[in-house]
Amino acid sequence: MIKINSDNKILELKKNRVIMAGPCAIESYEQLLETANFVKENGANVLRAGAYKPRTSPKSFQGLKKEGIEILKEVKKQTNMAVITELIDINDLESVYEVSDIIQVGSRNMQNFSLLRELGKQDKPVMLKRGLCATISEWIGASEYIALEGNNKIIMCERGIRTYNDYTRNTLDLSCVPIIKKETNYPIIVDPSHGTGVRYLVKPMSLAAFACGADGIMVEVHPNPDEALSDGMQSLYFEEFKDLMKSINN
Ligand code: PEP
Ligand code: MN
Repeated sequence: MIKINSDNKILELKKNRVIMAGPCAIESYEQLLETANFVKENGANVLRAGAYKPRTSPKSFQGLKKEGIEILKEVKKQTNMAVITELIDINDLESVYEVSDIIQVGSRNMQNFSLLRELGKQDKPVMLKRGLCATISEWIGASEYIALEGNNKIIMCERGIRTYNDYTRNTLDLSCVPIIKKETNYPIIVDPSHGTGVRYLVKPMSLAAFACGADGIMVEVHPNPDEALSDGMQSLYFEEFKDLMKSINN
């Protein structure tokens, strides 16, 4: 059972199955509210949505930033969902902290040690995504930077690593799930959306994640993936999310 303690509210997430779902990026109030309502109705217990987006190209959509955080606040109020969103820059800590139940450290910042140390001083759970090319030891080492400052509410997240395989965006390393369980006391979430980059692989890899002991999954869902401003190729259509949840609960 994972307990997330935030704002004096303890969420006891059922059946050891944490479902974090939502769009890659916040694009508008309507888009986020529609997605949040849908994923909640279908069993998600945490809303994921990025306001600050770490994109490979500076010309790609960088997120709505502060405006995105305001939208997230409003949608959180409307839906009463727990929220996870990414912090990229320590200067944005205050606003990200305020809206988040879990603060996300993205893959590209896994070894941003000053960011990790600062998050180690906070009292909210931090989800540490595995670096793009990080070994398991480097990833665990990064978690120690957070723990060393006093914050033990760490959630590990496997999101795929770069290998010579170019059929998928990344190679999802599910063997790390039992390894993290053996080496740490932290819960582990698997993100098959970034882990594969391919929509039809999200369901089988989600089921595989639970089969090997993951505490939860993080998946991207969009009302219209073909028009998404980021990661449309790996985002589930609403009906696919519904189908995934049915399979998980069977
Ligand atoms: C995300 O989850 O929004 C994201 C950017 O993922 P990653 O850091 O794993 O690339
Ligand atoms: Mn994404």
